[in-house]
Amino acid sequence: MDNRLGMVFVVCAPSGAGKSTLIGKLRAEFPGMEFSVSHTTRAPRAGEVNGREYEFVSRGQFAARRDAGDYAEWAEVHGNFYGTPRAAVLDTLSRGLDVIFDVDVQGAAALRRAFDPAAFVFILPPSLEVLTARLAGRGTDDAQAVHKRLKNAEAEIARAGEFDYLVVNDVLSRAYEDLRAVYLAERLRPARNPGLAEAILASFSRPAR
Ligand code: ADP
Ligand code: 5GP
Repeated sequence: MDNRLGMVFVVCAPSGAGKSTLIGKLRAEFPGMEFSVSHTTRAPRAGEVNGREYEFVSRGQFAARRDAGDYAEWAEVHGNFYGTPRAAVLDTLSRGLDVIFDVDVQGAAALRRAFDPAAFVFILPPSLEVLTARLAGRGTDDAQAVHKRLKNAEAEIARAGEFDYLVVNDVLSRAYEDLRAVYLAERLRPARNPGLAEAILASFSRPAR
């Protein structure tokens, strides 16, 4: 029997630490999981598709949705607005599917209040040098944006202790093994499997043939 409830799985990391790469690998291996597509006022990067990585909205559209209470949480990050549409998440969970979130630390704290139980993972870069090199190597942000992201990284890493799990993204395959292990273990929590033990227990009280 599989009565497992859909799980809220939150992955957080300073920009450039490799969170999109790791989430992509997890979704490729577990296609039943859905990604929470946030709304953002930032401009699309090369290769980003509206509705896939984000819904790209104007500041006016964002404010209207926020004021209507459509976002489970929202935050301003690096001068842009980001929000998690509540209805899509609830719909996915109601179908028993897991939802994976890519949000900043403020968003993670808000999701902890909004969804219980939920799992929270923080991805750490191995060092400032490596993070700087990855942001530069990705080539999607100008020098000023990279500087802003590195400043923000320090503040975010200082809050890593608020999370349930820490994964250091040094060698990608190792980091992925860790993230995968966390995901699989979280699926086994009793709170996500209501009635499982009870159903097996019921078989004990049936008369033996
Ligand atoms: P984030 O989503 O956290 O901003 P990305 O997944 O976009 O980060 O990764 C930033 C850059 O670093 C990308 O160019 C990505 O290919 C690269 N990268 C990610 N993980 C590793 C790793 N373990 N080793 C080397 N490069 C990596
Ligand atoms: P980026 O612009 O690099 O895609 O994302 C910048 C930051 O915004 C990242 O830390 C990312 O996790 C965060 N982010 C993306 N979507 C949301 C969201 O819906 N809510 C919050 N709070 N942060 C988000």
